[in-house]
Amino acid sequence: MAAFDNPAFDNHERVVFCSDEASGLKAIIAIHSTALGPAAGGCRLWGYDSDDAALTDALRLSQGMSYKNALAGLKFGGGKAVIIKDGDFGGSELLYEKFGEFVEQLNGDYVTAEDVGMTVDIMQTIARRTKHVSGLPKKGGHAGGDPSPKTSWGIFKGIEAAVRFKLGRDSVDGLTVAIQGAGHVGYYLSKYLSSAGAQIIIADLDEQRARRICDEFGAKAAGLDEILYQPVDVLAPCALGAILTEDSIPRLRTQIVAGGANNQLAFDADGQRLVDAGILYAPDYVINGGGIINVSCEYYGDVDDDEVLAQVAAIGPRLTGIFEAAEANGKPTNEIADTMAKEIIATATASPD
Ligand code: NAD
Repeated sequence: MAAFDNPAFDNHERVVFCSDEASGLKAIIAIHSTALGPAAGGCRLWGYDSDDAALTDALRLSQGMSYKNALAGLKFGGGKAVIIKDGDFGGSELLYEKFGEFVEQLNGDYVTAEDVGMTVDIMQTIARRTKHVSGLPKKGGHAGGDPSPKTSWGIFKGIEAAVRFKLGRDSVDGLTVAIQGAGHVGYYLSKYLSSAGAQIIIADLDEQRARRICDEFGAKAAGLDEILYQPVDVLAPCALGAILTEDSIPRLRTQIVAGGANNQLAFDADGQRLVDAGILYAPDYVINGGGIINVSCEYYGDVDDDEVLAQVAAIGPRLTGIFEAAEANGKPTNEIADTMAKEIIATATASPD
C-alpha cells in the first residue's frame, strides 16, 4: 500500500495507520491540512474491498474536509478517519476506546465526529479516551449531538438556492427529488423536503430504512440501480461517493444535483461533464457543511442552536455566489469552489498566526 504514490495523495501532512490486535481495530487517520486549525472531520466505519481502497477514501475525504472547512469559514483544517469493517469485525467498546486513544495521541491535531456507520453512542465511547471528539449529546439548546440534522438542513437550504438559480422557483413545493441513501442525512433531508411540499423518491441498500421514509413522508421507493436515473427536478446523492461518472452522467434525468454525499464526482473532470449535460451541480463539500459547522460550534464553545442554524443557512447564499461565479467565468462549479478553498488555505499557510 503506497501512500505517497496514491493518486489521492495531496501533500497530506500526516497519515496514521492504527492497529490493535486485541480489539481487531484497523483504522487510518488522514490529516490533510492544519493551516486553518485542528484537522476536523468525521470517522467512517465501512467494509472496504481492500486496504488501498480504505486509504484512498481517507485521503480523498480529508482533502475534501480541508476545502469544506475553509469555505465554511471555520477554524478547522481538514482530516478524516476510516475504521475498516472486515469480515470478523466485532465493533466492541474496547475497539472504539482504542480508536479514541489513537486520536488522543495526536494531541488535538485531529478532531473526530460521526460519519457513515457512526452513532452518538459510539462517539461517547470514543470520548472516554479523548477530548478531541464532537457530536456528543447536547446540553439544553446548545450545539452538539448527531450533526446530521444540521447537515440536512444545510442541504435543504442549498437545494432551495439551486432551484432558485436553475429553475427560477422560490420553493421546492411541487418538485420531485430523488434521494440515494436513507441514512441519517437522507432521513432528515426527506423530512425537510416533504414538509416543504416536495415529492421524494428514495432508495437504500437497507430496505427498512427506505421503507421508513416511504411510510413517514409518503415517498416512493426506487430500485438501487434506478435511483440515479429517475426523471426528477433534483437528484440528491446521500450515500457514498464517486457516483457521478463518465458512465452515469449522460444517463441522469435531472436539472440539478445537490445532495449530502462526500466526493460525489469520480474525477474533477466530471464537473465539466455535468455542465455539458446542462445540469447544475452544488459542490458537495459546500452544500453538506452544516454538520461540521455544528461540530465547530460544539468544539469551540457555547453556541446556541439558533446561532448554529443561522450559520448553516448561510450555505444557500454561499452556493448562489458559486453558481454565479461559475456562470460568469464559464467554469464548472466544482472548479470555482476548489479555487476559492485553495486560496483561503494558501493565505493561512503563508501567514500563520
Ligand atoms: P449513514 O451511514 O447514516 O447512511 C448512509 C446510507 O447510505 C446507509 O443507509 C447505506 O445503506 C446507504 N447506502 C450506501 N450505499 C448505497 C447505495 N449504493 N445505494 C443506496 N444506498 C446506499 O450515513 P450519513 O451520515 O447519512 O451520511 C451519508 C453521506 O453524507 C456520506 O457520504 C457522508 O460522508 C455524507 N455526510 C454526512 C454528514 C453527517 O452529518 N452525517 C455530514 C457531511 C457529509
